[in-house]
Amino acid sequence: MAERLVAGPGEADAADAAAAPLRDGRRIVVKVGSSLVTNEGRGLDERAISLWGRQIAELRGLGKEVVMVSSGAVAEGMKRLGWAKRPKAMHELQAAAAVGQMGLAQVYETCFRAHGLGTAQVLLTHDDLADRKRYLNARSTLLALLELGVVPIINENDTVVTDEIKFGDNDTLGALVANLIDADALVILTDQSGLFTADPRRDPQARLLERVVAGDPALEAIAGGAGSSIGRGGMITKVLAAKRAASSGAHTIVASGREADVLVRLARGEAIGTRFIAQTPRMAARKQWLADHLQLRGAVRLDAGAARALVAGGRSLLPIGVTDVSGEFERGEAVAIRDPEGREIARGLINYSSSETRLIMRRPSSEIEAILGFIEEPELVHRDNLVLR
Ligand code: GLU
Repeated sequence: MAERLVAGPGEADAADAAAAPLRDGRRIVVKVGSSLVTNEGRGLDERAISLWGRQIAELRGLGKEVVMVSSGAVAEGMKRLGWAKRPKAMHELQAAAAVGQMGLAQVYETCFRAHGLGTAQVLLTHDDLADRKRYLNARSTLLALLELGVVPIINENDTVVTDEIKFGDNDTLGALVANLIDADALVILTDQSGLFTADPRRDPQARLLERVVAGDPALEAIAGGAGSSIGRGGMITKVLAAKRAASSGAHTIVASGREADVLVRLARGEAIGTRFIAQTPRMAARKQWLADHLQLRGAVRLDAGAARALVAGGRSLLPIGVTDVSGEFERGEAVAIRDPEGREIARGLINYSSSETRLIMRRPSSEIEAILGFIEEPELVHRDNLVLR
């Protein structure tokens, strides 16, 4: 059974590219679960957090961009409130998360600062990422932070939603963030060594699966998906997170966070834990995602120069190239992009609403701020958010 799960000969190209996702990838999401962050609920593990900081500083030295997704707020909040047992009531868990998040932010900031890294707290929900406008806002903020050399520390905003409290311990959030910022790899650090063919605590024959295809339905059965109850942050949520991350072309690694220097060793190309290979290359996957999700709300017409720059030059669309706007749309919605003759040449997610676009069209990006009183991005539609027809 296990052999079927290993990448077959037809998948050789994707498999080769995925030989060492952390060595070959540039943008990486590292997700750490509550049990690692709080040393099994004993309180924030400053030593562990500091070691991640040191490793991330090293990764940054190799030119990599790293975003962290960290759980631990509920566990730390429980400790601070003196609760020995995890409450059942959601509102109590949410209150604990709000208390614990203060500690989380504090310790990350202090421990990472010691390694020369600035941090930023980002609290997100799934709904934020389903909403076009918020999706673009979150994406722009995270990319800006990476550009500034700051490490975003992301958690679910447990005050307003309870998705991860109920099911995931942030595994799903890790995958959504990987989709959001077009990460090359998602690393899920946990207290197990990876995905095994069976539960290693019960079955002495259980074997670690080193390389599997993300999204293979057989993995869900192995991880206990079919029929078994989904535990918070068990293997099944990791298998599903890997599948989701793969939908935007990111490979996933599930490995033990207790393994010394795990991130640095992975970045050197060492095989640790289980690698979930994404079958579709990253940019192709993103374009596919965009194409599938685009519901047109309006259109912009370009002058000949802008149309050429877009199609032949592979450039982003700037407001100066737009001659006409039709329809009513908001920031983050999808528009058709037409050439001077009215033929659709592309579709994309637009950074400005229809009324804003009408004000800034035909004008250079340097004037956006003076015209609108603010600037989102200099591009009207960024290249990465655009699909040519
Ligand atoms: N976002 C939550 C946290 O950081 C999820 C983990 C949990 O429910 O314990 O604590």
